[in-house]
Amino acid sequence: MRNRFAKILATLGPASRAPDTMRLLHDVGVDAFRLNFSHGSHEDHAASVKAIRAIQAETGNPICIVADMQGPKLRCGTFEDGSIELRYGQTIEIREGRENGKDGLVVMPHPELMNAMVEGTILKFDDGKLQVTVLSNDGKTAKARVDVPGQLSERKGINVINAVLPMSAMTDKDRVDMAFALTQDVDYIALSFVQTSEDVREAREIIGDKAGIIVKIEKPSAVEDLDSILISADAAMVARGDLGVELPLEEVPVVQRKIIRKCRALGKPVIVATHMLESMIDAPTPTRAEASDVATAIYQGADAVMLSAETAVGRHPATAVAIMDRIISAAEKDPIFWEYFQSVQLPYDATAEDAISGAVQGIATKLNAKAVLGYTLTGSTVQRISRERPPCRIVGLTPNMRTASRLALSWGVLPVVTEDPADFDDMMGRVSGLAKEKLGLESGDTVMISAGVPFGRPGTTNTLNISKVD
Ligand code: PGA
Ligand code: MN
Repeated sequence: MRNRFAKILATLGPASRAPDTMRLLHDVGVDAFRLNFSHGSHEDHAASVKAIRAIQAETGNPICIVADMQGPKLRCGTFEDGSIELRYGQTIEIREGRENGKDGLVVMPHPELMNAMVEGTILKFDDGKLQVTVLSNDGKTAKARVDVPGQLSERKGINVINAVLPMSAMTDKDRVDMAFALTQDVDYIALSFVQTSEDVREAREIIGDKAGIIVKIEKPSAVEDLDSILISADAAMVARGDLGVELPLEEVPVVQRKIIRKCRALGKPVIVATHMLESMIDAPTPTRAEASDVATAIYQGADAVMLSAETAVGRHPATAVAIMDRIISAAEKDPIFWEYFQSVQLPYDATAEDAISGAVQGIATKLNAKAVLGYTLTGSTVQRISRERPPCRIVGLTPNMRTASRLALSWGVLPVVTEDPADFDDMMGRVSGLAKEKLGLESGDTVMISAGVPFGRPGTTNTLNISKVD
């Protein structure tokens, strides 16, 4: 059992793809793994899924798997010599096509970008490291001035500022990758560069109920349309990497707070991602600022924090996870952390589910209850309990393997796969055993049990029981 409530999502890559390393990462704290479809082959991802499910079977811990689609990330083409230098103040030419670029000429395979560039459009290359401003565009050749110089290697990402591109959130590559991911027993599909709720609906048509949808908020247009995008999704990611290039940097913390608040109100898991322990790609310890950044995401109420290059290509993947685990636990031991959650009034629906989840928070405090165990088929009731951030363990009891691994991403939830009890007495009998075995509780500890009686029908949560462990 983890000694914390918020979850850790780790990106797999060459530094972590060996099954032994994945096992180690899970042991030191990883609750969910991200397969990044911007890199790696389908064979790599299939092997990772197999290894993760084997770890799950061995340990009995449901583990969440996220398949992250590349999305419409624009990239510049190739160069005669692999890279060119952009010099300060230089005027370069930009053309659409597939041939090699060279000194003073960038060629890229994106007609939609060619059509969208107007005087004043800003292009940033390589995660915002280099920048040019478009001076003119006759539709065949654009001229641009270099504002931030440096070496530009081929295939680096391009972010376009001040222009809306007529692009769907899904590219042909995404469709192929998504179809593949859906054959691979993944829990969530993450959509990159979502701009509207229409993008989510389009993906949902393909995904159906085979996986949940995580929207990665990394475009200004998504921030503008946040409410409807979050409502149409199952979970969200504050994708600070691209967000910090597409938006003024100072907006990133503001947007982060906003997304976390909205997701919590909706009861949808929210992940804070990118640069969390970035210096640990090389160094064995993070900077103080990074430690503080992880803690801030936790105080704000993130369900999960993510490691990217730290675990994908870094030198210390397991140490990064272990340190993240310690930072999260320390923040959660602070009484202020719990006061904040109790001070926020959440909007609720007039349902038995929300009435029961709302009561859990108060009962946990008043009776010093140690846990709430929720029987759930779809995970819905347990997610509603999780959104209340009660100061006690949350156990998600479900007969459904997919519900269990999906719940592994949700704040505070320990998913346990178990058959539905035959009746109420059977349920009471099982709970004491579970509480002792899975949570280390002792006889006499107070626990709550939420369930829909009779069992076995979704959407029937109607009971909250308070009892003591036998
Ligand atoms: P990425 O997404 O790592 O797939 O780009 C996260 C981000 O942009 O922060
Ligand atoms: Mn991104």
